[in-house]
Amino acid sequence: MAVNTSELMSTIVSLAKRRGFVFQSSEIYGGLNSCWDYGPLGVELKRNVKDAWWRAMVTNRRDVVGIDASILMHPRVWEASGHLSGFSDPMVDCKKCKERFRADHLENLDKCPKPKCGGQLTEVRKFNLMFKTWMGPIEDSSATVYMRPETAQGIFVNFLNVQQASRLKPPFGIAQIGKSFRNEITPGNFTYRTREFEQMEMEFFVPPGEDEQWYEYWRDARLQWYKDFGIKADKLRLRDHEQDELAHYAKACVDVEYLFPFGWSELEGIANRTDYDLKQHEQFSGKGMAYFDDETKQHYHPYVVEPAAGADRATLAFLVDAYDVEGEGKDERVVLRFHPALAPIKVAVLPLVKKDGMPEMGEKIYRDLLDNSIKSFYDQTASIGRRYARQDEVGTPFCVTVDTQSLEDQTVTVRERDSREQYRIASSELVGLVRKKMRESMK
Ligand code: ATP
Repeated sequence: MAVNTSELMSTIVSLAKRRGFVFQSSEIYGGLNSCWDYGPLGVELKRNVKDAWWRAMVTNRRDVVGIDASILMHPRVWEASGHLSGFSDPMVDCKKCKERFRADHLENLDKCPKPKCGGQLTEVRKFNLMFKTWMGPIEDSSATVYMRPETAQGIFVNFLNVQQASRLKPPFGIAQIGKSFRNEITPGNFTYRTREFEQMEMEFFVPPGEDEQWYEYWRDARLQWYKDFGIKADKLRLRDHEQDELAHYAKACVDVEYLFPFGWSELEGIANRTDYDLKQHEQFSGKGMAYFDDETKQHYHPYVVEPAAGADRATLAFLVDAYDVEGEGKDERVVLRFHPALAPIKVAVLPLVKKDGMPEMGEKIYRDLLDNSIKSFYDQTASIGRRYARQDEVGTPFCVTVDTQSLEDQTVTVRERDSREQYRIASSELVGLVRKKMRESMK
């Protein structure tokens, strides 16, 4: 993966800051490497991404349920999962500039890849990626706990709890969205690789023998999800893992990749994890983790197909992919072409002038939209052109203008973001129209 962040990336990073999508964490103290804060628009965008995932994976399905497990887990979990002994990346340090690199990202292990340095690199060392902390007041090894590096293990250890409580039979899935932590050696590319991030993972438990067909199913379904929410098909691809890339327990793995300005990079991995995790937890906990099939009266350990996505990476991909510059010179406009379901603001209400009762009518329309849970924005400052431009730049799909005619006949002008098409409708029909347009965009 190329490490150079292109000009396009820095343009998007500065737009993200200026318009309140993403700020650097602790900026007034100089920032904290690889940590980012989502601002007012960013938090809406990321919530919409997580909601879209949850709807597709849990709400709209009969065979998947959710959980919300704690971040801190019993330390033996990480022995069983293999994270304590195996969750490490090879790293090298430059003896001259002291920078640290992931050895598997470098072509040449003889010298520092920074063009102006070229210093000698240290031997390759292994480095465990888990953050350690202590539980309780005494900071000794018996109190060590780890910040989870993936949400999946919270699902595996709860497999039987969930199965018995919900009385589901394989094939069925358990989904979770939550924070994970990895002490990455080389974080970077804005929010793409950070040390604290949010995952959207689902473990799909299937009878052994059905794993390969479900693996095919989920790789197609997950690729389609990104397309459904507007990512351009030519910027997406599936990349199968080579045999030597596979985790020791995985039978097959494929990455959904997106063509970021910094190169093709993973958004999500879909893996056939076999029955490895359940069997490991059975061995380490001494508790049976097999499913009892009522019909055959037999116990078995289901195989697991796992689509594991990152909420931050998906959000970044939706942001980057939505960015568009149209026209030239004074006609140039910057548009974030978000899918309406992901757009942080759905409707902007804009009285043409700040007088003659237009603000009052605008306020009423705005209130009505909010009362109907349609995230909207009211703006009565600057010229109408400037206000449209501001909304285009944050990806608002609909602008609604209140003008002189509105006061006479209670109609408003709707302006669509992508086509810039304008049409009049009765203000009383606005909520219905927005709802209909949003529904249509989901087809
Ligand atoms: P990578 O090879 O990029 O380090 P990975 O293959 O180790 O990722 P998984 O363990 O499969 O990642 O995690 C599932 C998903 O969680 C990833 O596809 C990604 O979207 C997200 N993710 C993993 N590590 C990070 C990170 N450091 N920052 C942001 N998202 C991450």
